[in-house]
Amino acid sequence: MRVFKFGGASVRNPESVRNVARIIRDHHGTSPLVVVLSAMGKTTNALEELCALFMSGDTPNMEKKYEEIRSFHMHIARGLFSDPGHPVFQVLEQTFYQLYYYITAPPGDNYNYEYDRIVSSGEMVSTRILSMYLNEVGMPNRLFPAQKLIITDASFRDARVDWVMSSRAIQEQLAWAFREDPGEDLPPLVITQGFIGGTPQGFTTTLGREGSDFTAAIIAWAMQAREVVIWKDVPGLLNADPKIMEQAVLLPNISYQEAIELAYYGATVIHPKTLKPLLNKKIPLKVKSFHDPEMPGSLIDHQEAHDNQIPSYIFKDNQVLVSIFPKDFSFIAEENLARLFADFARHGVKMNLMQNSAISFSACFDYDRIKTPALLRDLRKMFSVKYNKNLELITVRHYQRACMEKLTKDKEVVMEQKNRTTLQVIVRGNR
Ligand code: ASP
Ligand code: MG
Repeated sequence: MRVFKFGGASVRNPESVRNVARIIRDHHGTSPLVVVLSAMGKTTNALEELCALFMSGDTPNMEKKYEEIRSFHMHIARGLFSDPGHPVFQVLEQTFYQLYYYITAPPGDNYNYEYDRIVSSGEMVSTRILSMYLNEVGMPNRLFPAQKLIITDASFRDARVDWVMSSRAIQEQLAWAFREDPGEDLPPLVITQGFIGGTPQGFTTTLGREGSDFTAAIIAWAMQAREVVIWKDVPGLLNADPKIMEQAVLLPNISYQEAIELAYYGATVIHPKTLKPLLNKKIPLKVKSFHDPEMPGSLIDHQEAHDNQIPSYIFKDNQVLVSIFPKDFSFIAEENLARLFADFARHGVKMNLMQNSAISFSACFDYDRIKTPALLRDLRKMFSVKYNKNLELITVRHYQRACMEKLTKDKEVVMEQKNRTTLQVIVRGNR
């Protein structure tokens, strides 16, 4: 079997939903397929706003937001189903009525619980629309609630997956779905929600923003899928952000490790949480364009042969560089380092680059309005501290000298560090 994941941008209006149906039809192949779907367009953001208005008791604005979300979905449904008497409209009215009924009662005091209860509606609605539309156009399918497949603990909003229970639930239910003959020539097709899980007691949870990729990976892992395809609005993985580097090129094939490294250095490729289960079972991950479904896109798998062929660039602005000196001119050795790291960890500040000499230690990290001053205050208790703001950190994997010189031309390089695969420079000035 295979797993396809479609994000919100792929189902943001009626035409794009039709395109998703075409992709499923043309790329289904001969084995069973599970489709993991996100909320439509920017619905998750809108539901987050709805939840905040609900919690703050701002009823007039909450009702406005609710109506906005409802009519956005109704508009998409009307664009897909020409018969106003189609059962989809009743299903949607019911789903929205449940949400409305929920938010007209006073909120409880557990924000994260309420969040999961409300924000999960986005995926519940999107999958109902897609499933019924596919039925309508001759692609019979089964819709499975993700709450019964992805079993989690009760850490609402950032739920932890119970891998043993989830794999059992996924295997049992999908095996059953795949065995049942839908009575058509097509191999079995299952639709489920990304981003959502459920506790064994039946409460709905969510896996953290952008969690749908992770859902696809969990299902693929449990089923030992042949591959996962993430359909996006870009041609695949690029070697740089095309908004910053016009000449960005496609990475046709990189290894799981390389993708994890790129994410670590700040590339918004695929989250390591998604990659780890796939890596453990050597399941290939493809990233393809839903605008250009025939193009090969990018492949992430265990092959490392191509990792070093194309340099990748990661730009992070808004960086702070601190240099820390022991007040008593003692060396920067284990005890001082232990204190320093404890300060960073306590304030939740992640170092993007560090360097030390005999009497100084420097670290570069993202500026944060709250965390940065608090960290500096604590560091000053024991150390002398100097710092610079508004810097940019450029990381190049598999660097070549020539392109680096072009990048730093006309810029003051404040610090540079390199090993065999990775070059990092801190330069002055935000982009
Ligand atoms: N709809 C959720 C979000 O926007 C999950 C996802 O799209 O991956 O964060
Ligand atoms: Mg999304």
